[in-house]
Formats: sequence, structure tokens, C-alpha cells
Amino acid sequence: MIHYPNVSLFIDGTWRPASDGRSIPVMDPATAGQIGTVAHATRADLDEAIAAAERGFEVWRKTSSFDRSRLMRKAADILRDRAEHVAALMVRENGKPLAQARLETLAGADIIDWFAGEAQRTYGQVIPSRSPDVLQMTLKLPVGPVAAFTPWNFPINQVVRKLSAALAAGCSIIVKGPEETPASPAELLRAFADAGLPNGVANLVFGVPAEISEYLIPHPVIRKISFTGSTPVGKQLAALAGLHMKRATMELGGHAPVIIAGDADLDLACATIIPNKFRNAGQVCVSPTRFLVQDRLADAFADRFADAALNLRVGNGMDPDTEMGPLANARRIPALEALVADAVDNGARLLAGGRRIGNEGWFFEPTVLADVPVSARIMNEEPFGPVAIVNRFTHLDDAIAEANRLPFALAAFAFTRDTATATRLGAEVEAGMLSINHLGLALPEVPFGGTKDSGHGTEGGAEALDAYLETRLVTRKN
Ligand code: NAD
Repeated sequence: MIHYPNVSLFIDGTWRPASDGRSIPVMDPATAGQIGTVAHATRADLDEAIAAAERGFEVWRKTSSFDRSRLMRKAADILRDRAEHVAALMVRENGKPLAQARLETLAGADIIDWFAGEAQRTYGQVIPSRSPDVLQMTLKLPVGPVAAFTPWNFPINQVVRKLSAALAAGCSIIVKGPEETPASPAELLRAFADAGLPNGVANLVFGVPAEISEYLIPHPVIRKISFTGSTPVGKQLAALAGLHMKRATMELGGHAPVIIAGDADLDLACATIIPNKFRNAGQVCVSPTRFLVQDRLADAFADRFADAALNLRVGNGMDPDTEMGPLANARRIPALEALVADAVDNGARLLAGGRRIGNEGWFFEPTVLADVPVSARIMNEEPFGPVAIVNRFTHLDDAIAEANRLPFALAAFAFTRDTATATRLGAEVEAGMLSINHLGLALPEVPFGGTKDSGHGTEGGAEALDAYLETRLVTRKN
């Protein structure tokens, strides 16, 4: 079993404990036992991180995009070389199966590489002027030191998207990492440090999330906020950012609909989307949640879903046979139990699962609910766990209306063989990302983000860098 460390703060190029020595326990979700600690930053530590980010920005903004890019690619290679170690740490702190942790780490290296490429494409423009002796041009400049807040469900992925985009743009950054899963993101920062990132350019702190965000967001040195987490917290932080005129990217909750039309390839739909529900034990903002199945396929799809749920191998993420690990923290168990009980009270049929497994660790049964009325809480709140809702529809209009009923608009999925149906869904389903007949989300080169209460801004694709750049007009008369 891999040794799990006591995770330090990373400030101004130095790994160090909190200035008052305080730390927070880190638990293994598979056993609920403590495996290590993470340093809890004091106000003085935050002040040092801010001062370091301010100095780091002065160095990094003047580093050419060619050199930034080169260093980032080196960090990506270091992360790849260490992927087995990093993935094993992630399994211990988060619980997910090792194969998923490995994939997340390697995909993190790909994200760094992709943003390293984008670093060299932050083009401004020359704008035709009204006079031959006037030059009008725009420069794309880094917005300044960034404060990023990242959650525990994808300990590497959530950090690497913000870190890579910020560094590619020429910004410095303070990451407030996930206290429950601190070791793997610390290894990500270490890859950059070992690649030669100048001191202060990237800093990593942990502590009480609300205390840190309330201090960093209004701080005059910080120019840009990026947050991934729940919609209620995101709204609070966006309001604080607005109050202090800080730019903000918000990647918040979802409740993804999956529309399965009667003409869909049932085998393809089942093979593609059912395992995806149980990935990361459903603790995924783009997790498919409301399965809306047209009458012709509804019973068969529900049967196959229940069968898959009952046969899924749930266990310790380090066991190579495990398909789904525990939930990442204890509080998801009562949350899921309450959502399932409420659905059943409202008349839903429980086709599989619904309960905690055993009394060691935070395991929950893969769960399938059918015919869930919209009055049930789970039809309105993000379950953030391995619970699927399978409801039926007769007319496509009704499925689209149900997909769009909630304030969330992050991911959506659909299966159909009919091009006209696919075109209509693309135009009418309110979502930041719609994937039809396959899973095409979260590649570095495509946009990743939502609209409505799911937030704003993208963390992937060419536009992701814009969030860290400002446009300056320079106009000159000869
Ligand atoms: P939570 O709302 O307490 O916390 C969610 C995340 O936000 C955590 O990482 C937490 O550290 C951070 N956070 C909370 N308050 C903060 C504050 N004031 N300032 C800065 N950061 C703050 O919920 P939780 O129990 O950790 O997770 C459950 C819910 O969070 C889920 O139902 C889901 O909606 C949401 N969530 C979403 C994502 C995502 O990928 N979008 C990831 C994790 C959690």
C-alpha cells in the first residue's frame, strides 16, 4: 500500500506547514480511517501566498509565451512519468478505481500540453482604421493573479484546467485545493515546480474554504476568480466577485438529462451511458441523471439499467476488479438515503440499490429509480451520487420540456438514429454541452462549461484562455 503523506502548503516555491502548525485530517473513503493530514493555512500564510503571487506575476507575465509553453510541456511529461504514484494517492484520498485515477492523471498531462500550445496563440488584432496614419491594434494580456477554488471529485482535473489556462495566459495563481483530496493536486503542483516554474507563479493552499474565499476574492491583488462546486456556493462567490469587480468563471452543478428516442440503438445507448452513470460513483457535475426514454424502449432500458446496477462490482479502488468505489465523503450517504426515500415516498419505483453498503467506508449501492414524479426532490436537486432516474415519455416535445425544466444547464445526452431529431435536440435542449450517440465531453480541445444556474465560462477549448486574458487597445497616430 502506498504511503500517504502529510500534505504541505506550497507558497513562493516552498513546501511548508501552516505557520501555526495546524492541520486537518485526511480520510480514506474505503475505510473511513485517517491516512494523513493537510496543512491548514493561516491568514499570515494567505498573505504570503498573495505577495508571492504578486511577485510571481511580474516574472511570469514577462516570460515569453514560447518559454511558458516549453516549461508547461516539461511539467506534463513529469506528471506522465509519475502517473502511477499520483493515481495511487488519488485512490486513497478519493476512493475512485485506480484505472479512473490513472486516466484522470494522464488526461491532466494532455490538458497541460494542449494549453501549452494555446499559450502561443494569444493573438491580438490589427483593426482597419479610418485614417492611413492611424494604427489600431489589440493586445491580449494576462489579467493578473488568479484565485482558483477546486473540489474533491476530480482532484487533478479540476485543478489542472484552471492552472494550465492561467499559466498559459501568463497569470500567476493561488489554488485553494480540496482539503479532502489534497495529495494528488499537490503532486500536480510539484510537477510544475520540478519543471522549473519560477517561485510564486503557482501557489497551493488549504483551509476553511469560506474563510479563504472571503479573504482572497476581495483582495486587490487578485484579479480573476475561478470556482468549481455547487450552485449555491457558486452564486455566493460570484456575488462577492461582482461586488469587487473581479472576473469570474463558475463551473457549477448539473442534473444532466439523457433523451433516448424510440428509434435509438438500445445496445449502443446501454453500453455507452449506463457505465457513465457510475463513473466516479456518480460524483460528477456532468453525470447523466434524468434518463428520459421513449415508450418503445422504456421498459427494456430500465430492466437493463437495473441489471447493470445489481451486477456492478463495488469495492476498494485499489482492487483491479472494482468498477465503482466508495463515495468520497461521509456526508453524501445521508444525502443520498434521504433523496431515495423521498422519491419512493413520492411514488417512484426502486429498481435497484438505494442503501449504504456495509458499515465500513462510505459505499453506496448503484441505484436505479423509475417513474419518479417531478415532485420528488431528486428530480430537482443534483444527487451527486450513483443514482439514476429512468422516466418515460411519449412525445419528443415533452422530453425536451422536461430536459429544460430545471435551472441547471450543464451537460445533456441523447441517443437517436434520426438526423432530424438530433438536429432539433441540438437546437432546443438547453445545455452547455450536448453529446449525441456517444460520450464526447471533456476533451481539452472542446468547450467545457454550462449556462443558467450551472454557471458561465468554459474551461476547455480555445475560448478557455480568454477567461485569463484582457484586451487592450493600442491606437497610434504617426
Ligand atoms: P459544498 O457545497 O459544501 O462544497 C462544494 C465545493 O465547494 C467544495 O470543494 C468546497 O470546498 C467548496 N466550497 C464550499 N463553500 C465554499 C466557499 N464559501 N468558498 C470557497 N469554496 C467553497 O458541497 P460538498 O458536500 O462538498 O459537495 C456536494 C455538492 O457540491 C454536490 O451536490 C455538487 O452539487 C457540488 N459539487 C460540484 C462539483 C462539480 O464538479 N461541479 C464538485 C464537487 C461538488
